[in-house]
Amino acid sequence: GPGEGLAAPERFAEAFTIGPVLGKGAFSTVHLATRNSDGRRFATKVVSRRKLPPVDEAALRSEAKVLMALDHPNIVRLVGWYEEKDVFYVPLELCEGGELFDRIVQKSCYTEREARDLVRMLLEAIAYCHERGIMHRDLKPENLLLVSKEDDATIKVADFGFAKVANIPKGLHTQCGTPGYVAPEILKRQPYGKEVDMWSVGVICYILLGGYPPFHDENQVRLFMKIKKGTFTFHPQYWATISEDAKDLITKLLVVDPAQRITAAQALKHPWIRASASVLMERG
Ligand code: ADP
Ligand code: MG
Repeated sequence: GPGEGLAAPERFAEAFTIGPVLGKGAFSTVHLATRNSDGRRFATKVVSRRKLPPVDEAALRSEAKVLMALDHPNIVRLVGWYEEKDVFYVPLELCEGGELFDRIVQKSCYTEREARDLVRMLLEAIAYCHERGIMHRDLKPENLLLVSKEDDATIKVADFGFAKVANIPKGLHTQCGTPGYVAPEILKRQPYGKEVDMWSVGVICYILLGGYPPFHDENQVRLFMKIKKGTFTFHPQYWATISEDAKDLITKLLVVDPAQRITAAQALKHPWIRASASVLMERG
């Protein structure tokens, strides 16, 4: 309107027709939206500015900045950014296959080949971000989206709401992330960096292959103690048929000392990730 000299020339409602809710997050609702110019469909993150403390408003702006700079087949693409009086609208590339989380619940566990392909895509997206000094900080199956119902094998990393440029001096002390996927150094309130994402990959990888989390306790204090110690087991009844290579990679990811933890670039060269599909199929 008048006086909004710096605002985008077009308002969201003129460019897009908003549709039903696709999902809800901590501080946003994601709707389907159709672009009026060509009928193409997008996911649009809608955030009420009235409910949003200034710190979250800054987080969302930083998410937009981070995503706009990223162009990778396994990262949800940001298409625009509309800052309006009461809401932010953030149109994103649409992933119609839903959350990896829901697939895991349906399937209970993945074959090694399926798990390996998912973890490789995740590692490629993370390596791409880490090379650019960007960490995600909230990697978990809810933030990994499947491209479509037909292609339920390709994932894209979403929700860079907590992403931050990693090379901030002395690291960050912010408590964030989700219990269960959070790295021990965050729980110990130590300065941390991009290694936290690799810990989360370790947890995701364990869940995909085992069908249950490596660290679990009903009591959050005890759960945090288990994560800080970093002791986990490959229970023989679930892991006997899983290859040693897969267990080796998980063991190199779930390392308490971040300096000793495998990096995304190193993990992409790990034998389990590099294994050809046929070799893993022979093993079943
Ligand atoms: P928050 O930062 O509030 O957690 P997310 O970005 O994780 O928000 O989005 C919340 C939910 O909305 C996701 O878990 C997912 O179900 C859905 N969603 C988010 N982005 C997309 C997208 N690009 N395509 C389809 N659904 C999406
Ligand atoms: Mg989320």
